[in-house]
Amino acid sequence: MTILAVAEHRRGELRDVSLELVTAGRELADAADAELHVAVVSGDVERYAESLDREGVDAIHTVAAGEEFNHDVYVQAVAQLVGELDPTYLLMPNTVDGLDYAPAVANRLDLPLVTDVIGLELDGGLTATREMYGSKVETTIEVEPPVAVTVRPAEWPAAEGVGDAEIQAFDADVDDSLVRSTVTGFEEAAAGDVDISEAEFIVSIGRGIEEEDNLPLIEALCEATGATMASSRPIVDNGWLPKSRQVGQSGKVVTPQVYLAIGISGAVQHVAGMKGADTIIAVNTDPNAPIFDLADYGVVGDLFDVVPALTDAFE
Ligand SMILES: Cc1cc2nc3c(=O)[nH]c(=O)nc-3n(C[C@H](O)[C@H](O)[C@H](O)COP(=O)(O)OP(=O)(O)OC[C@H]3O[C@@H](n4cnc5c(N)ncnc54)[C@H](O)[C@@H]3O)c2cc1C
Repeated sequence: MTILAVAEHRRGELRDVSLELVTAGRELADAADAELHVAVVSGDVERYAESLDREGVDAIHTVAAGEEFNHDVYVQAVAQLVGELDPTYLLMPNTVDGLDYAPAVANRLDLPLVTDVIGLELDGGLTATREMYGSKVETTIEVEPPVAVTVRPAEWPAAEGVGDAEIQAFDADVDDSLVRSTVTGFEEAAAGDVDISEAEFIVSIGRGIEEEDNLPLIEALCEATGATMASSRPIVDNGWLPKSRQVGQSGKVVTPQVYLAIGISGAVQHVAGMKGADTIIAVNTDPNAPIFDLADYGVVGDLFDVVPALTDAFE
């Protein structure tokens, strides 16, 4: 039995979700006594193959195609590889790219597709867990293999260790006449802005900040600590920070080493975007705020006292 995970990369970097897929795939492979194969579709496949060779990966299939993500290339290449390997479980990332090609691949191969999966268990068939209604309820879906799933980023830890996978080139027969679009370039979302999903230390601010004029307090803390500033949705809705800084279900998913949540209650829609942080620290006046259920460390206190004191200490 084979499990196939499809890696993701962007602008020359393997994305974190790729190694998370390796972990999810290995867990399934262990439960099913199966082999874990990983595929990467790109121009310069060698550079990714080495990073993907983590403990527990049995084989890596490199598919030489265009460097940038392209729907029509991925659908053809992944579908052909699946046709060749006949995996029992096909894992793809639940990302913008993954959600672009995964349904088309599943449709082409007539596979059932379970999206945005946060848990996978084998019990005869596959039991996949998803969240619904803004993460208020969890549903489990039982599905008979072969099956395709898209895995939510930051739900599994990244695979570690160095493996000794066999690297095999797969010669996909991509019909260029079916490739209807080309990537002509990249434009940064906002000049000078940062990608919070790549940040290692995030200071995130919520409605507790009260008004825009108080934001410099948080900026000073970010400067003193070298942190990247992010926020809950009301701050973005108020127009105080750009949408690119919003963490959560309708914002970005972040996985920093440290997430310092200041004046954020911990609503499910916010938590959906930050629960994968290694260490969560919360500052809130309300000892019953839900963020404390999740936090590793917490300060029950007024941010207007705590933040300047923290800034002073770091300076
Ligand atoms: C479909 C949908 C999608 C959504 N997507 C997102 C999303 O992507 N991201 C997101 O964040 N939200 C999202 N939301 C909104 C979400 O439900 C919450 O409303 C939002 O997260 C609350 O933001 P908050 O914690 O900053 O504000 P509040 O819930 O108002 O919390 C403010 C907190 O600050 C504390 N506080 C007040 N004063 C101080 C002080 N002086 N010092 C310290 N603490 C203080 C309070 O005790 C409180 O806990 C979504 C909602 C829906 C319906």
